[in-house]
Amino acid sequence: MTMKTSRDKRVEEKIRCDACPVMCYIADGKSGACDRYANDGGQLVRLDPLLVMQRRIDDGGQLVPFLDNADDWNGDLIAPQDAFVTAVGAGTTYPDYKPAPFIVSSVVDGVDMVTVVSEGIFSYCGAKVKIDTDRHIGPETALVRVDGEPVGHVTTGEYGSQMLSLGGVHHLTGGGKKEGRVTCATLLALCNGEAVDMQIDDGSSLLLQAGKPPVINGVVEARMRVGCGSATVGMFAAQWQGLVDEVVIVDDHITGVMSEHQAGKVIGWPSSGIKIIGRRSTPGRYFQVAEPGTGWGGTNLTDPLTILGPFDAKIAKPGQSLLMISTTGEQFAYYELDENLLPIETEMPERLQPSIRRIEENCEPALTSVSFMGGAGGSLRAGVTENPVMLTRSVKDALTRVTCGGAPVYIWPGGGITLMVDVTSLPENAFGYVPTPALVAPIEFTMRREDYIALGGHLDHVMSIDDVLAGKIGRQNDHKLSGKKHFAQQPQNPWPIRR
Ligand code: SF4
Repeated sequence: MTMKTSRDKRVEEKIRCDACPVMCYIADGKSGACDRYANDGGQLVRLDPLLVMQRRIDDGGQLVPFLDNADDWNGDLIAPQDAFVTAVGAGTTYPDYKPAPFIVSSVVDGVDMVTVVSEGIFSYCGAKVKIDTDRHIGPETALVRVDGEPVGHVTTGEYGSQMLSLGGVHHLTGGGKKEGRVTCATLLALCNGEAVDMQIDDGSSLLLQAGKPPVINGVVEARMRVGCGSATVGMFAAQWQGLVDEVVIVDDHITGVMSEHQAGKVIGWPSSGIKIIGRRSTPGRYFQVAEPGTGWGGTNLTDPLTILGPFDAKIAKPGQSLLMISTTGEQFAYYELDENLLPIETEMPERLQPSIRRIEENCEPALTSVSFMGGAGGSLRAGVTENPVMLTRSVKDALTRVTCGGAPVYIWPGGGITLMVDVTSLPENAFGYVPTPALVAPIEFTMRREDYIALGGHLDHVMSIDDVLAGKIGRQNDHKLSGKKHFAQQPQNPWPIRR
């Protein structure tokens, strides 16, 4: 007979959570390493309440949470056709052969529908961050660091925005332990709408929070540029005609010059004899007039005159006027040529003020946007069907709709189920983590019942939405819920169960 060690006894008193590969032993009254599950008197409990989304009564209707605890909740208060069981708080499936925690049937407009509901463990995931600014935040491919650890990099800029690519397996699991931990914590915080401090190698310090203005080197960014310099010339050419002899829109991408630009030509703008120092692309459009920076129009310019060569004496005349302005309208200056054809800064005339205000007015508020991106193409699919590739095909054939916490997602073309979702469209604190490290995100698959049958779904685990609303748990039955909450559908999100 083998003697039990004290460690064996300690382990016997604990329960083992098998909701992720960490397989924590959890003592009574304690929670596991992810703080998502706990031991409640020998029963495994999912600590966050299951979130049920309630359809808005009408377009103008405002709904607010009215109950905090499932124990008090009479499911009759919500009509089943107006309820959608999200995966927030539903629990995960591990190992992967298990059916999802909830496989819910409902009837919509007389059609039988099924929604498979599960929290997914995303080992392959990251966040794409769009920062509305034309300021240079760092060289493309430069590392982005949090607490000194690399968590991603600067990627290709978009129109009026700088972009970061954060997370991914390379940082989650391919580097050191601390790198993985910090990357996971960074993604979790950003996806749950918290502010995160970052530093770009050879670049700016950033304070980023989804849905809020970015803070770059301690300065809150207010405006997103109206367009590149060329586009700005095109948009406002007619408004400047007759008010000024030349307009230069200073921009790190394309600096626009009115008299040379096609927009100016079309309306008969005369030549001014101006010379721009930069790489001429097409008429009136110049690349690389300066280095990228945090000055005029995302360049490093503090004095825009440094991009001008001498005016052509055969064309330019003393007294000729010149407006120089950036693409956000934040920087502007007015000049008149002296006897030697040198531009001299003078007070901005009243007649040009409305055009400056018009540029400002056309700038949208600068925001930080965070899109969670993850691959649900792996074993998560086995929670839906015994033949996982059938789910992928069903999603690609648009027979199955994928949502995250009830929010619509974009599915990338190609193999697998690679999705992207705006984190501000999910309920609050919808994301979790496990210390493998990986992010936990809610995911729901909704389809007609006949399509669920066709893809080989776990039909014996289907339960009615009435039962879920009444507080029953899925047939998988390997953990208890700590409660349920309902929340109102966000006005911008479509109702996820549609025919
Ligand atoms: S980390 Fe969380 S989900 Fe994973 S085994 Fe531990 S308690 Fe369970």
